[in-house]
Amino acid sequence: MKTMKSLRFALFTLVFAAAGAVASAKPNVVILATGGTIAGSAETQTQAGYTSGQVGVDILIDAVSQLKDIANVSGEQISNVGSQDMSDEIWLKLAKRINELLSDSKVDGIVITHGTDTLEETAYFLNLTVKSDKPVVLTAAMRPSTALSADGPLNIFNAVAVAGDKNAAGRGVMVVANDDIHGARAFTKTSTTDVQTFKSPESGLIGVTLYGKNTFFRTPYRAFGKQSEFSVKGVDKLPRVDVIYINADVSADLIGSAASKGARGIVTAGVGNGNMTSAALKEVSTVVKSGTVVVRSSRVPFGVTGRNVEVNDDELGTVASGRLNPAKSRVLLKLALLTSKDAAKIQSYFDKY
Ligand code: ASP
Repeated sequence: MKTMKSLRFALFTLVFAAAGAVASAKPNVVILATGGTIAGSAETQTQAGYTSGQVGVDILIDAVSQLKDIANVSGEQISNVGSQDMSDEIWLKLAKRINELLSDSKVDGIVITHGTDTLEETAYFLNLTVKSDKPVVLTAAMRPSTALSADGPLNIFNAVAVAGDKNAAGRGVMVVANDDIHGARAFTKTSTTDVQTFKSPESGLIGVTLYGKNTFFRTPYRAFGKQSEFSVKGVDKLPRVDVIYINADVSADLIGSAASKGARGIVTAGVGNGNMTSAALKEVSTVVKSGTVVVRSSRVPFGVTGRNVEVNDDELGTVASGRLNPAKSRVLLKLALLTSKDAAKIQSYFDKY
């Protein structure tokens, strides 16, 4: 009888220790909330109108009770805005906090909840300024947290599963939504309303995830993270860079006007291969001569804006954006201007990142 009892006790201790080991094996993931539709709320479950950034990080975490099965999760509120109000100030705060958290050996990964509107810009900014191989994952939702079939909870669950996965390390900043894992550089929002707005149209996905089970296909093809020469250490302001949309008969004086209002860089969202009217080219030439850096990108969603194709960049002193769209070109130019205003040097950044 006594032997049976001590056997049972030994078994219990074993099971308890094993359970403890499993519990402590769970990764530690910090969720940084910034706002967006994922934290939005509406009066009813079926209306299109809603307000972004209403729900705090604790409510977001509590709404997905399954998180505790896959990670030890804690949350911090960085901001609570619709991402149309995302700013340099929030980017700097976010990048600095992520670097700080990831330098702690007890933190295994980071999830950032964000609006979808400027998700690709924040992801690309962090891709170039977070100096760690640990996973950093942004997630978002198209439907507010109060909607029928809200997409946020499963996106958060999958994002935490990716952030806590050792195989996600060294893949740059990622965006997880609708079971897909995107790289920050490739990712873009493609529809104003579709739930499957999230795409990596040219270079494809980093991987996929299904209820927290992840499969990885690739690593980013451009430099990021620790390889990046950009740093936000000691930086409390980013230079002004404006994007100017080019169309037939564009008001070319917008270019000079941006420069005279203080833009240190201008990105043109050109037609075709980054083209623009002759009048606009003349304006570009004038502002470049007076020290403003101009990057030619394209309003066309796919393909390359190539150097010296229809515009002679060598003569004009401009930079060609390659495959980087205007919004992300603006992010890279802001960071580039922290270190240089030389067009050749900045072209080398656009070729590398
Ligand atoms: N305007 C919202 C935002 O970007 C849209 C969304 O999150 O889907 O915050």
